[in-house]
Amino acid sequence: MLDKKNFYINGAWVKPNSSDEIKVIDPATEENCAVITLGNKADVDLAVSAARDAYDSWAFSSKEERIGLLEKLYENYKKRWADIAEAITLEMGAPKDFATKLQAGTGASHIKSFIRYLKNFEFEKPLGEHAPNQRLIYEPKGVCALITPWNWPMNQVCLKVMPAIASGCTMVLKPSELAPLSSMILAEIIDEVKFPKGVFNLVNGDGATTGDALTSHPDINMISFTGSTRAGALISQNAAKDFKRVSLELGGKGANIIFKDADPEAIERGALRCFRNSGQSCNAPTRMLVEKSMYNEAIVRLKKYTENFEVGDPKKEGEHIGPVISETQYNKIQSLIQKGIDEGAKLVAGGTGKPDGLDKGYFVKPTVFADVNNDMEVARTEIFGPVLSVIPFETEEDAIKIANDTAYGLTNYIQTQDSKKVQRVARKLRSGMVDVNGAGIAVDAPFGGFKHSGIGREAGEHGLEEFLEVKAVGGWSN
Ligand code: NAD
Repeated sequence: MLDKKNFYINGAWVKPNSSDEIKVIDPATEENCAVITLGNKADVDLAVSAARDAYDSWAFSSKEERIGLLEKLYENYKKRWADIAEAITLEMGAPKDFATKLQAGTGASHIKSFIRYLKNFEFEKPLGEHAPNQRLIYEPKGVCALITPWNWPMNQVCLKVMPAIASGCTMVLKPSELAPLSSMILAEIIDEVKFPKGVFNLVNGDGATTGDALTSHPDINMISFTGSTRAGALISQNAAKDFKRVSLELGGKGANIIFKDADPEAIERGALRCFRNSGQSCNAPTRMLVEKSMYNEAIVRLKKYTENFEVGDPKKEGEHIGPVISETQYNKIQSLIQKGIDEGAKLVAGGTGKPDGLDKGYFVKPTVFADVNNDMEVARTEIFGPVLSVIPFETEEDAIKIANDTAYGLTNYIQTQDSKKVQRVARKLRSGMVDVNGAGIAVDAPFGGFKHSGIGREAGEHGLEEFLEVKAVGGWSN
């Protein structure tokens, strides 16, 4: 079992003040794979104070210095790529190929992308040609608390740590207590790169103690959080007391609108996007809205596709999916599948219980419900497992209405060959992102949601600006 009890504070690995420990569980075997410490208030105070002390000089570091350090970080990340992927497989069960290409891969893409945006970003510029003596200055927001979940660990950590570094902020990262191992490798990389002491700090721990101590700390200026809507609301309450800046990336319940002129792969592609990462993606298209005239055909195709969808050992190569993160999550998904059955949705494939031959590990059967009504719990709650709810619709207006009838607004999907219809529907969907015909959303496009899906945007230029305050200076002269 890996001993990962120390924290990274003020440029060194240090023994925590707290002696509370928890085991990290490999979700594929249910066995302990590592032990970490749950940080207490004293640990958080120490990390925040290191970040606070480092801030005054780091905030005024040159853009060139920050680019140089991020470029070194990128080189070292590439050297540790396989270690990061292996840690992700171990801590959250993403299969080897998926962990390498997508999980570790998106981390690398964000580092590269933020270097590019940093190079081009103008931190000082005139308001416009009409007002040459009015200056805009973009300054770092300050000391940041970065809190991340377990489902895309390196993606989410890099979406926060890289723009925080690029903007001149200092930070304390608290990764998910369920999947902290990849973040600890990132801390090792940052240590090798030799950032000034205190710029980056890592404290492990849970939400109720460590997360709460961080988000209520008076020396934190900004909180960037990805996770559940429940925790996002609690964090916002802490932040409101002293007007901390808050960026929240929360849950989703994306609709995938399949019109009858969709391309031939749209149905299977939609199911794959729902099941991928074992359904543990906030932007997953978990409600498939299918036009009535092709509804029956869609259900037949979904049944065949899902019954042949492979679930298996994440340490194996291949395109299969692995387990879900934890016993708690497994039980939650089981009870939601049962709820779907009880509410009268038609079970087309999958269902409760473990897939054949996978008795150990938190493996879930990919599941499809047909004849779902948008008021049913399986259509309203973010299940965060490989469960697809299929809902028929009659007209374009109906589809838009059903898609928007949710508390969330992260990503919606449209499948049709009619470009005018794409434009009409995309404009009316209440979500931060709309993915058309499987095109995907670019790695540097603004990522974030409307409504209960959050506040703010990550990635690319928008993600960098999230960590900056703008100051207007009148009467500037050169
Ligand atoms: P979670 O909210 O329980 O935990 C996320 C992180 O927040 C963890 O590090 C946890 O320790 C911490 N935390 C929990 N309660 C806290 C509190 N009161 N104060 C401070 N920190 C606290 O979520 P999870 O179960 O780990 O992750 C799954 C959720 O995250 C899903 O709802 C999913 O949709 C969402 N998510 C959203 C995005 C996005 O970008 N929109 C991306 C990934 C995951």
